[in-house]
Amino acid sequence: MQVKSKLDDIQNYLTDASNMQGGHAEKLFIPETTEEVAKIVAEANASKTPVTISGARTGTVGGAIPFGGIVISLEKLNKIEIDREARTATVGAGVILGDLQKAVDAEGLFYPPDPTEWSCQIGGTVATNASGARSFKYGATRNFVQGLEIVLADGDTLSLSRSRPNHASNDGLMSLVTNSGKAIAVKIPTYERPIVRKNVSGYFNENLPEAIDVFIGSEGTLGVVTEIELRLTIKPKGLFSGIVFFKDTQDILSFVEEARGLSFDALSSDIQPRIPEGAMPFFDDWYLQATLIEYFDDRALAFISEKFPEVPEGMAGAIFFEQETASETEDALLEQWNTLFEKHGADLERSWFTTNEQDLEKMRDFRHALPVTVNERIAKYKQRKVGTDMAVPDENFPAFLRYYKETLDASGLDYVIFGHIGDCHLHANMLPKDAAEAEKARHIYGRCVAQAIMLGGTVSAEHGIGKLKRKYLAAMMGERYLNEMAELKRAFDPNAILGRGNMIDESYLD
Ligand SMILES: Cc1cc2nc3c(=O)[nH]c(=O)nc-3n(C[C@H](O)[C@H](O)[C@H](O)COP(=O)(O)OP(=O)(O)OC[C@H]3O[C@@H](n4cnc5c(N)ncnc54)[C@H](O)[C@@H]3O)c2cc1C
Repeated sequence: MQVKSKLDDIQNYLTDASNMQGGHAEKLFIPETTEEVAKIVAEANASKTPVTISGARTGTVGGAIPFGGIVISLEKLNKIEIDREARTATVGAGVILGDLQKAVDAEGLFYPPDPTEWSCQIGGTVATNASGARSFKYGATRNFVQGLEIVLADGDTLSLSRSRPNHASNDGLMSLVTNSGKAIAVKIPTYERPIVRKNVSGYFNENLPEAIDVFIGSEGTLGVVTEIELRLTIKPKGLFSGIVFFKDTQDILSFVEEARGLSFDALSSDIQPRIPEGAMPFFDDWYLQATLIEYFDDRALAFISEKFPEVPEGMAGAIFFEQETASETEDALLEQWNTLFEKHGADLERSWFTTNEQDLEKMRDFRHALPVTVNERIAKYKQRKVGTDMAVPDENFPAFLRYYKETLDASGLDYVIFGHIGDCHLHANMLPKDAAEAEKARHIYGRCVAQAIMLGGTVSAEHGIGKLKRKYLAAMMGERYLNEMAELKRAFDPNAILGRGNMIDESYLD
């Protein structure tokens, strides 16, 4: 195990993709086994030293940034074991998503969660319940987590598996037994979750949850995830994809509504979770079923045309979609997509379509280049990106998009809107150039949060709350439910050493 304390050695562990400033820590530990993690955490607990868990620090809300105490980086827990027959992978928390994707692909299998940033660690994606474009069809990381090995704050370990489910009872109580035989009683928070397609705001409490689901998305506040068992699926035989340009935003909205409806026809009306645990839904391979439906507004297209000058001018926006195919279904599916795009007034002449792997990769690069370029630009301005991550119920989505556009146009700020329109979840990224604009952007962000809450939405659909969005979670939850979250945290971490400052203000824990 490596232990570092020189500023030069730990500097990289004091920031993440949020650009949040002021991170500091006394020491960095880089353990190689679960036992080493347990020892470090137990010692920190004895001295009540705060512990920040570091993944690859691609998070956008400051979750991995320490403000005092020690940092534990999981980067050396990077073992990958794939069981091809069982279609599972057992991985160390520090495995990089891109490495897992390569290993899984080599076995002819597929791991769908894709937060577009492939340098993140699997442990980080579990802690944030990361999702992304493909979550439209497959759901978030949660749907693929079968088992977790967790180090608790006192150094004890907990092994959780969906094959040994441990549900909360009807009165919301959950009893757990750690690997050393210690009993832990947990009260699940009672808030009602918004009816949205994606939501990572607050501890998971849906449908008398299983213990494993409470840890997924808990942002490093309940325990250190050291090992994960993942469910894999069969690799799609082929893909048909396109970036399709529209001259009218209304056409985009009507297209998305119909494409979403067609894609989910085969599913029940219960939208969360969309894929029943342990089973993939049956889709008739011959019918249109998008893997992802993503959006770029006119400003996003103008912004990205600096890197991709082939973007046509004069467009109101574009849709990026993917459809899984097989050789026998490809023609029929292409025909259905074409008919749908024509019906909704897409500019097919100037749109891009492909079924070949190289161009598919180029289209994904195009999609990923947008948040990356936004981050580069904002770093150049030496400001922090102000980016929304709210989702609202389907029926309120057009009104929410209108609100974004009208508010941001009136603000005079530079901005782009893009993201997961299939899930009624867009990122409006404001790019302030100086402190005054940054202040204005934060003010507008607050108004967008209020609007999303008013429309029955969630303040964070995928990036999490971390340190930066705590006050918005407070606005969504209110005192009572923050206290219930704090009670749940104290059951696992009585000294509140883990992930201090993430999700809930420390005043709820002391
Ligand atoms: C360009 C870009 C695009 C992105 N797009 C998406 C997207 O489409 N969808 C999406 O969901 N996200 C997206 N993200 C952010 C996303 O949150 C991260 O990519 C990822 O989920 C975090 O993994 P990480 O290893 O970097 O974790 P970190 O950033 O290091 O940590 C994130 C949080 O998890 C905790 N944590 C990390 N590892 C562990 C562990 N082993 N045990 C317990 N807690 C742990 C940390 O303490 C922290 O609170 C994007 C990020 C970037 C930079």
